[in-house]
Amino acid sequence: MEILIEMKLMNLLIDIHAHLDHSLLIPKIDEIIGRAKNAGLKHIIANGINPETNRLCLELSKKYDIVKCAMGIYPRDALKKEAEKAEYPLKLTDFDINFDINEEIDFIRKNKNNVAAISEVGLDFVDGESKQQIEDFEKMISLAEELKKPIVVHSRRAEQKCIEILESSKLKNIIMHCFCGKKSLVKRIADNGWHLTVPTTVVRSQQFQEIVKNVPISQLFCETDSPYLSPYKGQWNEPAYVIESYNKIAEIKQMDITEAVNNVYMNWQRVFE
Ligand SMILES: [Zn+2]
Repeated sequence: MEILIEMKLMNLLIDIHAHLDHSLLIPKIDEIIGRAKNAGLKHIIANGINPETNRLCLELSKKYDIVKCAMGIYPRDALKKEAEKAEYPLKLTDFDINFDINEEIDFIRKNKNNVAAISEVGLDFVDGESKQQIEDFEKMISLAEELKKPIVVHSRRAEQKCIEILESSKLKNIIMHCFCGKKSLVKRIADNGWHLTVPTTVVRSQQFQEIVKNVPISQLFCETDSPYLSPYKGQWNEPAYVIESYNKIAEIKQMDITEAVNNVYMNWQRVFE
């Protein structure tokens, strides 16, 4: 409780990656934003994954001062598979994957002044390699280069491929979201000067605790991936819980929580402002 009060005064917490448009969160979005403010959040990045959610994130960023909008195209076939096996109520339009990506790129370009990052984009080869995913990802990288925006990258069972494609780009402000690749790849990301996120599941995940241990704090961001990756079992995630990532960083890096928060905030300023 003491920590919460202290954090509220600091107001510098950032949730770099959340899906506020998600059908599990949107019906109670006012309360969720209220709790985030009480918990000391300064910014939440809401991430689009397709045309419909890109528009929703834009609306949310206009409605709530602490919300910033990121737009992207999530790996399309992976999105379809996720929709098919989802165990919560979904609007099917949330998972529309049949659209013209060039039209969507135009939309993002037109709204560039309201876009904080290109996200969520990347590769997801859980069901095998996909040519379309690689083409989409390359277009998203070119867009980030053109608009000079940071990019937040999803990489699942395609970690090395993602890194290779990104290394051949001109991008510098790269954030690898929820990275589950090998230790040697974590090192490669850190050596490249890119960033990694610390999701709230770090409270129980050895993988993310190792990332915190091995990567300098100047290259870390915190995220909830709400409504996913909850630190509390049996409960959906929300941005207010991002404090759990900061607490774990402070514990592992043996610094006080204020120092951890300030350090991650400086990363925000360097990459996003
Ligand atoms: Zn996500």
